[in-house]
Formats: sequence, C-alpha cells, structure tokens
Amino acid sequence: MRQLSAGAAALALALRGRAQPAAAAGPAPKKLGIALCGLGGYATGQLAPALKLTENVELRGVITGSRAKGQQWAQAFGFPEKSIYGYDTMARLADNKDIDIVYVVTPNALHPEHTIAAAWAGKHVISEKPMATSVADCNAMLTACRLNKVKLSIGYRLQFEPNFRELKRLARDGDFGAFMTMSGGLSFTMTKPQWRAEKKLAGGGPLMDLGIYALQAACMAAGGDAPVAITARELPKKRPEFFRDVEETIEWTMEFANGAKGTFSTSYNGGLDRFRAEGTRGWIEFAPAFQYGGLKVATSKGPLNLAVPPSQQAGQIDDFARCIREDLESPVSGAMGRRDMVIIDAIYKSAAQGGRRIEVTV
Ligand code: NAD
Repeated sequence: MRQLSAGAAALALALRGRAQPAAAAGPAPKKLGIALCGLGGYATGQLAPALKLTENVELRGVITGSRAKGQQWAQAFGFPEKSIYGYDTMARLADNKDIDIVYVVTPNALHPEHTIAAAWAGKHVISEKPMATSVADCNAMLTACRLNKVKLSIGYRLQFEPNFRELKRLARDGDFGAFMTMSGGLSFTMTKPQWRAEKKLAGGGPLMDLGIYALQAACMAAGGDAPVAITARELPKKRPEFFRDVEETIEWTMEFANGAKGTFSTSYNGGLDRFRAEGTRGWIEFAPAFQYGGLKVATSKGPLNLAVPPSQQAGQIDDFARCIREDLESPVSGAMGRRDMVIIDAIYKSAAQGGRRIEVTV
C-alpha cells in the first residue's frame, strides 16, 4: 500500500468514523459545492470532518499550494482533479459550476486577497476569523462581494453553538436582567514558531487569534451591540525574542452604551478559557468557553446541560447554505467581521497610547 504522507494521515485521522448522515425521506435539495482555500490545521482537523456531516454543502474542490495535497483531498472526498486550484489560479474557479462557495482558511493577512479572488470568480465566501488585519482590508472585501453580488460570512462557529445561542437569548429576553459586568478571555502557551507570531501574516498577536472570541461573546451578551469605548494595555513580554512584533499578552475593557463593562485578557502565555456575564438578576459562566466542544456552562439557576450537535462548524456552514438559498444576509456577516476589526483596532490604539480611552464608531 502507498505510504500516506503526514498530511494525508492527518486527513484520514480527522475523517475516521465520520459517516455521512442517513438520507432523509423525500428528495433532498441539491447540495451546494464548497472549496476549501488553505489546507492547514483547521481545514484538516475541523472543517474536513464537518464537511462529512453538512446536510446542505459538500466539499467539491480545494485551493492549495501543494498539488499532491490537493490530490489526497480529491481522493478522500471524491471530487475531480480539475477542481484542485493553486492560490494563483483562483480566477479559473469562475468556470467551475460545481463550486458555489469558497471557504478561506489561510493566515489572517491573506484572507482579503483570497476572499476578493473568490468573489471575482463569482463565488460566495466564508472567511475565517479574523476577517482581515485592517478595517481598510475589510472594506475591500465587502466591496468585492457587493460588486460581484456574492455573500460573505465569517467563520464565527460559536454563534451557532447552543450555549452561545442561549446567551444571546438571555441578552434579548433579559431573564437575568441586562448583563452589566462581563469578564474572561482566551489564552494558550505558544511553544513553536509559527505565522501566528508574525505581524505580517497574523496582523497582531493573541488578540487577533484568541481574544476575538471573548470580544464576540461580549457583543453577544450586550445584545449584538458594539462597545462605545475601549481602554487597553499590553503587558510586558516574558519571551520578547519569541513575540518580536506582536503582543504576547493584552488586557482590555469594553464599555457599552447602557453602562455595561467587560474586562478581558488574551495571551500566548497562559491557559485562560472563560467567559462570565453578570446581570442584575443572575449570571452565566462558560469554562471552558471557546473550545470546539465540551463547553461547561453554569448559571445562577443551575447548569445549562444543553444538547450540542457533533460539529459546530457543520452547523455554521449549513447555515450559510440556508442564507444563500433564501437570499439572506448571514448572521455572521462581513459587516460583523468588520465591526470586530474596528474594535480590535481600538484595543491596539488604546494600548499604544498608554491606555487612553478610545471611542468606537462602527
Ligand atoms: P495553519 O498554519 O495550520 O494553516 C494555514 C494554511 O495556509 C496552510 O495550509 C498553509 O500552507 C496555507 N498558506 C497559504 N499561503 C501561506 C503563506 N503565505 N504563509 C503561510 N501559510 C500559507 O493555520 P490554521 O490554524 O489552519 O489557521 C488558518 C485560519 O483559520 C486562520 O485565519 C485562523 O485564525 C483560522 N482558524 C479559525 C479557527 C476557528 O475556530 N474558527 C480555528 C483555527 C484557525
């Protein structure tokens, strides 16, 4: 038997035991075709298995720097080799009727280039978070999608997770009163050099990569609103040689129009994974808060214990297919991705100016 490469082995492992769901009775609507752009860790470990579970979408192509890797994916998912593209041949996607959506899973600073190329090929786009590394790039992505009449959504998987849906419902219905105090954050200890610690490709440090989850959760708890002001400070680096041009740890406060405040932290040196929101009549706490599964959620009324589907990403991708079919704006739209980039900009600006309060206008 042919020896599997490391990439093929990882893909085989990720797909093990993931059967297609049984077909429902009656004619199912035709699935939309998706192409993954970037076949790294997240595409292999999370999106490939999710695309074996999606009901409305199937993987029909890839965009990759490695043709050999593309061939392994073509074999694993049963699509033709003509549907393997390079980053420099994305314009040819325009001729491929099998592919409706491109899912951009490359390093952050490349999301604009790949999103814009997909949009000009006439494909709807999911861009991974963060949407880009600047508001100007978000604007360019939005413009390209508008001009080409394609939809844009951001890979905010937790917006579809049942516990976070419940957080949004609580914020809307006010069971615990308005959430006036929030806290938490996300951190992990980076041990190997990678693009995430290079400003050119990542746009920033853990704030772009991990802090964005806490920022998203805070906006959910605030009923979908953006904060009106930010204060932030970067902590001294413990490994300055490792984090030469990005922050290692940053803390920030978000102030909302109703007086609510959230204080958060993110780092590439630590193990924080928590989100708490306190209302006038109760509280909710997620710990762990931001993982692909196994979230633990307690409230002042007891644990939530909600049933969760096997893949957050399958739900996220299927919802985008629904938006395309019904011609709706995605609930995780490009506008939301841009909003978060405006907030991230304000956090960096405040930290750079010694913690000055920065007003946020989205
Ligand atoms: P990764 O390093 O594992 O994969 C990146 C891929 O991009 C690789 O296949 C690499 O070959 C390719 N690539 C193309 N051009 C490149 C270049 N110039 N330099 C470096 N790599 C290049 O990264 P990942 O963990 O898969 O992350 C990819 C994106 O997905 C990031 O934007 C990240 O924020 C996002 N992500 C999202 C989640 C989530 O939960 N939503 C989780 C992990 C990653």
